[in-house]
Amino acid sequence: MGLFSSKPDIKKGDMVYAWTNDQDIAKKAECGGAVTTLLKYALENKLVDGVIVVKKGQDIYDAVPTLVTDPKGLKDTAGSLHCGTGLLANVLKKRFNGAKNMKIGMTVKGCDLMALQELARRKEVNLDNLLLIGVNCGGTVSPMMARYMITTKYGVDPDKVFKEEIDKGQFIIEYEGGHKGIKIDELEDEGFGRRSNCRRCLYKVPRQADLACGNWGVIGEKAGKATFVEVCSDKGADLMSKAVKAKALEVSAPEPKGIEIRGKTENAMLKLGEKWRKRDFSRLGKDPWTTINNETSRCIKCYSCIENCPVCIPTAETLKKSYAIEPGQIPPNPMFHLRRFAHISDSCVNCGQCEELCPMEIPLALFSHAIRVEADAAFEPKLGKPAYSN
Ligand code: FAD
Ligand code: SF4
Ligand code: SF4
Repeated sequence: MGLFSSKPDIKKGDMVYAWTNDQDIAKKAECGGAVTTLLKYALENKLVDGVIVVKKGQDIYDAVPTLVTDPKGLKDTAGSLHCGTGLLANVLKKRFNGAKNMKIGMTVKGCDLMALQELARRKEVNLDNLLLIGVNCGGTVSPMMARYMITTKYGVDPDKVFKEEIDKGQFIIEYEGGHKGIKIDELEDEGFGRRSNCRRCLYKVPRQADLACGNWGVIGEKAGKATFVEVCSDKGADLMSKAVKAKALEVSAPEPKGIEIRGKTENAMLKLGEKWRKRDFSRLGKDPWTTINNETSRCIKCYSCIENCPVCIPTAETLKKSYAIEPGQIPPNPMFHLRRFAHISDSCVNCGQCEELCPMEIPLALFSHAIRVEADAAFEPKLGKPAYSN
């Protein structure tokens, strides 16, 4: 018998508008509060032992991954933090033993989900013990970039900003004394905006999670007040049915026009991602080897890219014993990087952790993502499209 065993009224494949009946969650939620309410329901009813979510730390640039085991604590984790660039899949693997001995509910973006699938293939994560509440993801802005962009482009002290949101293609800030929104296209044409891996990302609606939740397509009187939920698995359908029966959550059929708008927005985002791929990959130039060599010559061999890559399992310790890498050599010879690119050539999920955390600002995700995209294109004619790829 599985974790979620009663017969669901809501079925896999359904789409609904959903909103919470919990006033504390409604106050803090990004839209309808469905994500927080479902996780709370799962925790209260012992469907999971704990949930991994993201909580605001010191300020809006500080997204802290948190394990919550007391349902009362969940209301503080509602709301989206677009400067939260961490990978919860890594948190699960490193801190919670890949859910091997604990049932865990998690909020996941597309890259978290792909990383979890890869980690499961490597037996680092037990997917059967996970309840995955996906959030659609248009992208994240790194905290440093957000502060710089708000100072120089918005002309606002970043410490005075108490809320940020992405709505109708704009990055909007609310600060002491006003609010201001600027189109993301304009920001990105000027070198600001989302992380470069997010610009290239093509996994906008996380349909391999149990539920995919977002704000696209919520129109009419429910605009801003409901979460658009696509039910992606029987487990997700069962959870939704139970939460609705328990009156934790209300649902209604989505507006047909809303479904159409959601589809169009997703397609527009995919086209934009393709545009960024072309633009970014052309940066490799006619001689990618020289480009990679030049860029990686700044490497100080801190091992951060290896330790924070969800799919590159060799540890710094195993690398130290490598036949291809000279110990103590800084910068390391190119094999230090080529080995990792080779290891992950068919599994890089373009989460951007390597690049985000590289102290030398080497565009590592660009290199490994370009190699993955090329590997997919090479295998696709025979094997078909990969189950997931970013
Ligand atoms: P809530 O009940 O408010 O719960 C939100 C959940 O998200 C909480 O569990 C919280 O811990 C978690 N969370 C917050 N920040 C992060 C983060 N950085 N990483 C991982 N988890 C986080 N929807 C769209 O339709 N289109 C988009 O383009 C889009 N882009 C998004 C980008 C980001 C970075 C995030 C986090 C969400 C995005 N969403 C997008 C989803 C949307 O903002 C809402 O999260 C979703 O509609 C659920 O709303 P809710 O009120 O039910 O969630
Ligand atoms: Fe979202 Fe994709 Fe960026 Fe991950 S890589 S944060 S799923 S846009
Ligand atoms: Fe080198 Fe950057 Fe990787 Fe550190 S994170 S080992 S500096 S490439």
